[in-house]
Amino acid sequence: MKTFALSLVCSLIALFTYAQRPVADHEKAKGGELTIQPITHATLVLSYQGKNIYVDPTGGAAAFTGLGAPDMIILTDIHGDHFDAKTIDAINTNHAVIVVPQAVADKLPATTDKSKLVILKNGDKTTQLAIAIEAIPMYNLPESATAMHTKGRGNGYVLTIGGKNIYISGDTADIPEMRNLKNIDIAFVCMNLPYTMDVATAAKGVLAFKPKVVYPYHYRGQDVNQFKALVNAGDANIDVRLREWYPAAK
Ligand code: ZN
Repeated sequence: MKTFALSLVCSLIALFTYAQRPVADHEKAKGGELTIQPITHATLVLSYQGKNIYVDPTGGAAAFTGLGAPDMIILTDIHGDHFDAKTIDAINTNHAVIVVPQAVADKLPATTDKSKLVILKNGDKTTQLAIAIEAIPMYNLPESATAMHTKGRGNGYVLTIGGKNIYISGDTADIPEMRNLKNIDIAFVCMNLPYTMDVATAAKGVLAFKPKVVYPYHYRGQDVNQFKALVNAGDANIDVRLREWYPAAK
């Protein structure tokens, strides 16, 4: 009976988490539809042609209730809001390629199948599951050895899925490597001090590389309406998509 009560509570928690998740967006891509499912903070799931890509999965298995198991897991950095060993242990990683920087590879649970790892340095490129992946630097400015994000440790990424170039910033400042990006269709850009950058700086960076669509993410406590206003004041054609990445905080 106790077990039943416990599993009931677990299912209710899972259901609650599911109900709290923002509605997914659907994009037409070459060869199928790209589904963009924000989960929370820096965590999201991209799905295309039946393949699921988990980006910085956190929140335990419950955060992914109703979504298919990952075929690819992409991790940006070592901090707990991006890399959560417990979540990686909890989700079904049996069929997942795991794309990581070396610093994250060093912290993966011992149970992780090392043959599934693809370790990328800043600037490295690979193709996995027909998805082109490029590792982009992510770091704080001014650069310093004691910064929370030092250049070279973590990776942002550009993924090319069904002809769409998708930029995932990770934790970064308004760095030249971001400003110089070309032909980005969809961008996920962080903004929160003191960890990354403020909304005005993020808006300036976005206006430099002009993605067609931008999702502010990793923005706990920031005014994303101001971000949207600043981006659209500079370029009304950029589709700034505000989604609720912190539903539990409401
Ligand atoms: Zn972070």
